[in-house]
Amino acid sequence: MALQQLNKAAAVINLEDDIKEILSHPQREVQVALPVRMDNGKIKVFIGYRVQHSNARGPYKGGIRYHPNVSLDEVRALAMWMTWKTAVLDLPLGGAKGGIVCDPKSMSQGEIERLTRRYAYAISSIIGPYEDVPAPDVYTGPQHMAWIMDTYSILNGHLEPGVITGKPVEVGGSLGRNESTSRGVAIVVAEAAKKLGIKVKEATVAIQGFGNVGSNAALIMAKEYGMRVVAVSDSKGGIYNKNGLNVDEVLKEKEKSGTVTTYKNAEKISNDDLLTLDVDVLVPAALEQVITEKNADKIKAKIIGEGANGPTTPEADEILYQKGVFVIPDILANSGGVTVSYFEWVQNLQRLQWSLEQVNKMLEERMVKSFNDVYDISKKYKVDMRTAALVLAVSRVAEAIKLRGIWP
Ligand code: NAD
Repeated sequence: MALQQLNKAAAVINLEDDIKEILSHPQREVQVALPVRMDNGKIKVFIGYRVQHSNARGPYKGGIRYHPNVSLDEVRALAMWMTWKTAVLDLPLGGAKGGIVCDPKSMSQGEIERLTRRYAYAISSIIGPYEDVPAPDVYTGPQHMAWIMDTYSILNGHLEPGVITGKPVEVGGSLGRNESTSRGVAIVVAEAAKKLGIKVKEATVAIQGFGNVGSNAALIMAKEYGMRVVAVSDSKGGIYNKNGLNVDEVLKEKEKSGTVTTYKNAEKISNDDLLTLDVDVLVPAALEQVITEKNADKIKAKIIGEGANGPTTPEADEILYQKGVFVIPDILANSGGVTVSYFEWVQNLQRLQWSLEQVNKMLEERMVKSFNDVYDISKKYKVDMRTAALVLAVSRVAEAIKLRGIWP
C-alpha cells in the first residue's frame, strides 16, 4: 500500500523514475536479536527492527512499536509513511520506524525495562540527536522513552535528551505533547469548516474512540472551539445526544466505569451508527479501516478529520470524493503529535523549555500553513486531499534528494 501511494503521487507530478526508485527503498534496515533475562530466570530472545527510510530533509524520525504482530514489512511501510508525514508539515526531519515483536501485556514492568534498554543498546550506533530520533508508538510511552534516553546517555557519557522524543516533562519532554495530536485535529477541522462555509461554533461533531486522541479532541473541540460534540464511543459502544454531550462529565464517567456507554444523559448507539450520524464533522480516532466501501455511501458528515491512522480504505476514499465529503487525511490531520515531537527535539538541542502557550501557538501556525499548502495542491491538480498531501510530501523529499545529489 505504501508503494502504491508513492506511485500514485509520483504519477500526478511526473516524478523522475530515478528519484522514485530511490524513494521506494528504505536507506537502512536493521534487525537485532535481544536476549532478555525474564523474571523466571530463563533467557528469552526477542527480535527488534529499526528501519530508516529517508534522511534527505533531516534526521530520521519515527516511533517504536511493541506488538506481537510487528514485522519487518510493517515497519518498512510505516517508516516510509513517516517520511511523508514530516515532509507535509515541512519539519526538517526524515522518516523511520522501529518495533519489537513482543506481547507487552504478558510481561512484567522489569522485563519490559530490560527489553527496552537492550533494544536501545542494540540500535545505539544508528540513533542519535542528529541521526535518528525515535518516539513512542503502539504500547510504548513516556517511561520507555526515559529508559532509552538514559541508556543512550550512559553509553555516550553525557545526558542526551535530544536522542528521543515523547519523554516525561521532568526529563526533557515538551509541554503540550500529550494533547498535541488532538489539538492538531481540531485546528485542521476548523480550517476545513472555514473553507466549506460551516460556522465552527455551530458545527456538530461525532468522535469514534475515546482514548488519548478521541477524548482530548472532544475536550478541545467543545471547550476551545465551541463545537457541539453530539456523539462519542469506545470499544464497548457509543452515546449520542443531539443537544451536545457534556464532555467533562463523559470523561468522569469513563474514568469511573471504564466506558462511555454507562453515561446517563444520552442514548446508546453502536460504533457503526456513530459513523453514519447526520453531523458536520466525523473524527475517527480509534482503529484503522473503519470507513469502507460498505458504509462510505451512508456517511452524512461534511468533513472527516482522520485522528486515527488509516481509518479509510482506498475504495471508501473514492466514494467519499465522489460524494463531496471533505476528508482531511491522517498524514495531515494527526500530525500534531510529530510536530510537537519536533518542538521537543528543538528545545532539547537548545536546552530550553517553552511555555505551553508558545508550543500551542507554533503548532497552530504550522498546522494551518500545512493545511492550506495541501488544500492549494488539491485545487491545482484537482485531486482529493490525501493525494494532495502525498504529492506535497513526495515533491519536498524529491527536491531535497535532487539538490543534495548522489555521492559518491
Ligand atoms: P488509545 O489506545 O488511547 O485509544 C483508542 C480508543 O479506541 C479507546 O477509546 C478504545 O476504547 C477505542 N476503541 C478500541 N476498539 C474500538 C472499536 N472496535 N470501536 C470503537 N472504538 C474502539 O489510542 P490513541 O493514542 O488515542 O490512538 C488512536 C488512533 O490515533 C490510532 O490509530 C493511533 O495510531 C492514532 N494516532 C495517535 C497519536 C497519538 O499521539 N496518540 C498520533 C497519531 C495517530
